[in-house]
Amino acid sequence: MIIAVDGPAASGKGTIARALARHYKLPHLDTGLLYRAVAATVLREDLTPEKEADAVSACSFEDYLLEDPWLRTDEVGKIASVVSAHPLVRAALLHRQKKFAHQPGGAVLDGRDIGTVIAPDANVKLFVKATPMIRAQRRHLELRKNGILTSLDKVLSDIRARDERDSKRSEAPMTQAADAVLLDTSFLSIDAAVQRAIAIVEAAKAKTTSAPA
Ligand code: C5P
Repeated sequence: MIIAVDGPAASGKGTIARALARHYKLPHLDTGLLYRAVAATVLREDLTPEKEADAVSACSFEDYLLEDPWLRTDEVGKIASVVSAHPLVRAALLHRQKKFAHQPGGAVLDGRDIGTVIAPDANVKLFVKATPMIRAQRRHLELRKNGILTSLDKVLSDIRARDERDSKRSEAPMTQAADAVLLDTSFLSIDAAVQRAIAIVEAAKAKTTSAPA
């Protein structure tokens, strides 16, 4: 079973995807980390993220980089959304993601284009969203917990800028697949959101088993 979980930053898609992977005992890939690894390599090697050739040269990073906590910072996330707009960067990372999705037994992947590009054939597609203000509040709280002091306004404007770049790019823009189920986590606890996601997967499974051959 392939489960595609898409949505914007801080919508809860990562938490939901990890919980679904645990629940259904499936391997999980956070595809945002791949773009973050490209961004981190661009930054470390002093390359220019806006230049496609520079970003492409950063696509052959070593896998151990994916474990680096620096990748999860907003600094790297911002550059990830710049490098991810280059068609050749997306092409360089495509095979790895498709292979992961289509491994025997299935997988859970989260990102921006899983249901539309990486696995349009996914058995279940979720599009997770929450209002920009609620996502900014979540991110702001997380940053404060990690000792990073910044204003809520700044976090909100960063989130809006990232949404704008991710949804307006020409190649694989962030968009809800026509057959994806929308899950709005704005007013849900983590537990409630995960239970809702499991219910969506169960409903999709039931539909498949009851469909006439
Ligand atoms: O999900 P995360 O915030 O870690 O993703 C970082 C950036 O990587 C996103 O803002 C987006 O630009 C890019 N991305 C993408 N396609 C994906 C996953 C992430 O373009 N499937």
